[in-house]
Amino acid sequence: MSRVRSSDTRLELLLRSALHRAGLRYRVRTSMLGRPDLVFPLARVIVFIDSCFWHACPSHCRRPKSNRAFWREKFIRNARRDRKVTAHYSKTDWTVLRFWEHDLTTRLRACVRQVRAAVRR
Ligand SMILES: [Zn+2]
Repeated sequence: MSRVRSSDTRLELLLRSALHRAGLRYRVRTSMLGRPDLVFPLARVIVFIDSCFWHACPSHCRRPKSNRAFWREKFIRNARRDRKVTAHYSKTDWTVLRFWEHDLTTRLRACVRQVRAAVRR
């Protein structure tokens, strides 16, 4: 678990430093619903980074072999919460960007372009 958390932090820093280099400024660690990873308050854009494991990425999530029922429930709950959070912000006129962990590790520049486009819209 701690290993997962530190890799989440590493991902967040990867995106943050790329955005910073691109001249984009954001807030982090807000207490908004769903705890978005990054927030651009004026542009009303929020960014979530979804780890391939916790958010059950179809390509990379390897479900633990033990406690199958527990994990199935957990992943279902996480997916439901993600949808609820996205719907909440969409309804209240925020732009929600969700990046998979694998997006950040394989196509970071495209992610930065996407954020920039959303912020400048
Ligand atoms: Zn993935």
